[in-house]
Amino acid sequence: MAAIDPRLLRAQRRLADQLGQIDWALPGNVTTRMMRCGKPACRCRHDPPKLHGPYIQWTRTVEGKTVTKLLTPDQLDRYQPWFENARRLRQLAAELETLTIQAIQQAEGWGR
Ligand SMILES: [Zn+2]
Repeated sequence: MAAIDPRLLRAQRRLADQLGQIDWALPGNVTTRMMRCGKPACRCRHDPPKLHGPYIQWTRTVEGKTVTKLLTPDQLDRYQPWFENARRLRQLAAELETLTIQAIQQAEGWGR
């Protein structure tokens, strides 16, 4: 690309630096929930109910299907930064795309 605005170049380098700081990235969502089991006489069916849990569920989509895995509190502690990294990665990728559109619009003289 020809003659990119220095302001856009600086923004691109900032984004590249931030992208370079991401080591691992875990996709999906984590939800913590209390649950009922299948036993009719269980305490989780009493009034008021004493539910089982909390269960930490990690769900993600694999080839269009939702896959769920239970995590221990210790696993969640260890993996939490990687979930945050994945969110950050998506945000930075969106910023990079916006910036790249600005750069080609500026370089090509589009939108003037
Ligand atoms: Zn139960």
